[in-house]
Amino acid sequence: ELILEAVDLEYSYPDGTSALRKVNLQVRKGEKLAILGSNGAGKSTLFMHFNGIYSPSSGTIKFQGQAISYKKKPLIELRKKVGIVFQDPDSQLFSASVWQDISFGPLNLGLSEEEVTKRVRQALTDTETSELEGKPTHLLSYGQKKRVSIAGVLAMEPEIIIFDEPTAGMDPRHSQEFMLLLDKLSSEGKTIVLSTHDVDLAYSWSDRLAIMYRGEIIAHGLPGDLLTRPEIVKRADLTIPWLIE
Ligand code: ADP
Ligand code: MG
Ligand code: MG
Repeated sequence: ELILEAVDLEYSYPDGTSALRKVNLQVRKGEKLAILGSNGAGKSTLFMHFNGIYSPSSGTIKFQGQAISYKKKPLIELRKKVGIVFQDPDSQLFSASVWQDISFGPLNLGLSEEEVTKRVRQALTDTETSELEGKPTHLLSYGQKKRVSIAGVLAMEPEIIIFDEPTAGMDPRHSQEFMLLLDKLSSEGKTIVLSTHDVDLAYSWSDRLAIMYRGEIIAHGLPGDLLTRPEIVKRADLTIPWLIE
């Protein structure tokens, strides 16, 4: 079942940089989809379209079969269902404390105080940030901020969660714990989209894979089919850590 879709999506930045060229991508309900691409491939630009932060130069984003609307009310509704954890955690952390940052989203949903507290506690536990809850967010390390920004999106309980290079800048242990958290979210039925330039991670984690290079999806399919073809990996300018056989 299709849940989110990019149809002939094109996007150019105001300075004329063409970042997406006729991108067609389907996200299916409950799947684990990885977008693999080297720096500058267009991953972040694509994600910015998925909950209407950017509107396309041409083409369409569809949610549950319907083109999304860029008016305020439907956008707010869309963002309850499509949560994005941005690449740069500073872009979504702005409160005086970790607790306040994580509770900001659910408070805005108009939930009861009890429900908000419950969700924030769960998100703190899931991201191993409980010991940070009283701290000022701006004093945290990059990896800690990354985990707090993830907690903030989890607390909104969206149907689809999109992670833009989530483990970049995380230490190996937290990175491992994060992958376990993704398994848990998947088992709860969430749809997960993740971008990475890590071939190893994409191969081991995803159900389905799309490979991007310079604004285009150059291949999509099963990770085992794509990553065993050296010409694709080479064309995408990716470093392959070991030969997949
Ligand atoms: P990725 O996330 O895969 O590294 P991006 O989506 O960030 O790729 O970038 C895609 C292309 O758009 C790159 O050529 C990048 O330099 C360019 N780009 C990204 N952000 C901007 C911006 N704000 N203004 C102009 N060009 C940009
Ligand atoms: Mg980048
Ligand atoms: Mg990026």
